[in-house]
Formats: sequence, C-alpha cells, structure tokens
Amino acid sequence: MRIDKMLSNLGYGSRKDVKKLLKDGVVEVNEKKVKDAKQHVDPEKDTVTVNGEIVEYKEFIYLMLNKPQGVISATEDIEHETVLDLLEMEDLVFSPFPVGRLDKDTEGLLLLTNDGQLAHRLLSPKKHVPKTYFAVINSEVTDEDVDAFKKGVILDDGYHTKPGDLKIIKSGLTSDIELTIMEGKFHQVKRMFEAVGKRVIYLQRISMGPLKLDESLELGEYRELTDGEITELI
Ligand code: URA
Repeated sequence: MRIDKMLSNLGYGSRKDVKKLLKDGVVEVNEKKVKDAKQHVDPEKDTVTVNGEIVEYKEFIYLMLNKPQGVISATEDIEHETVLDLLEMEDLVFSPFPVGRLDKDTEGLLLLTNDGQLAHRLLSPKKHVPKTYFAVINSEVTDEDVDAFKKGVILDDGYHTKPGDLKIIKSGLTSDIELTIMEGKFHQVKRMFEAVGKRVIYLQRISMGPLKLDESLELGEYRELTDGEITELI
C-alpha cells in the first residue's frame, strides 16, 4: 500500500496533507525518513512513525455507541442528526456504518463498523443473533404475556414471530421488562407488545450477540471494542 494512502486512511489528513508531512520529513519507515508519497509499505510488517510516534495500522474499526434518543441510525438524513454526527473525524475516516437500526426514540447499544462481512453475519436472519432489550411498558406485564411471547405473537401484518424470551423485572401500573429476540423486524419489540395490547414507553438495547452495552458510556458516548469483544463477535 502507498504510504500516502495508508496515512490518509488512518486519519492523518487528505493525500495533500500527508504529502506535506512527508515533505516536512516527519515520516519514517523502518527508521528511515521517507519523502516520496508513492513509497510502498507493508502495514503488517513495516514500522511507520509520524513525528516519532508509531502508527498503528488497522483496516477495520469497531465502535460501541450508547445511542441517545433523537438521532437516526443511518449514515445520512436530510432532516435529523444521525449516529455518524456523534463520531470524531479520526473514526469517520474509516467510513463506519451502523449494524442494523434502532428507532429514533430507542437508546442503547449500537455497533458501528466498516467490516461489511461481520455486519452481514450479525444481521443475517439465518444466524439468529440474540438481541436483548430493556423496556418500560405502559401497564402490567403478566405471566400470560411471558407464555404468549414464548410461543411467538402475531404482529399487525400477520407475521408470527419466533419465540421471544420475556423476563419481568417489575410489574405494576407500568412494568420493567427484558426481552430477548432472535430476529429484527421493523419496530419488532414495540409491535410484539402491541400484539398483547400493551405499549412500550421506553426502549433500550442492552446486548447484541456476545456484545453487552458498556454501562460506563453516557448517552451519545462511544468507544472502540476491546480485542476480547472483537474476538467474541467475529
Ligand atoms: N424493536 C423496536 O421496536 N424498536 C427498536 O428500535 C428495536 C427493536
């Protein structure tokens, strides 16, 4: 890979900016100053430094965002803020995109990556990746609802859902629940509760496959996945 492409991909600026860095003599490959933008490097083997600092090469980026309400899980939207607006430029250079969608008013775990294969695997209906949601429901959730969800419920369009694992955390005038589902139909959690005559008044995704929402992330904050999390996911 050309040195200017590598550094530009990693967020060191445009090709023109990188050319200037090279011209300024602050880029070294294996401890030798490099000024030619066309110079080829092997990101796996060569040691590249900029201003004496080692450049860590990576092709893929994996980000865990605690999505707040009011932003859209898309890469662009003419009207509203998208989840990409919450990212720093140094991460945007990797062109990450959200893996699946959360509704505008849903909070919680959203994975963003540029690893298309992983995204495809996580979203494939055949893979049955479990997703767990915490929700507040507008009325009393009962053991009958738990049984109904276990059998699958019929949504407004006639679709019979696969079994959902419903756990009641607190039941009363409003109820707190956790629901794990293996599929991801449009507004699925909300529509499953509508199917039993109830309404979701707050929804938060807390896990997706092996990935759990990091509770230290404030709403709108994000971090890179750890190596351990990436290994579990891939
Ligand atoms: N189910 C919903 O209804 N909304 C979401 O955002 C995610 C799952």
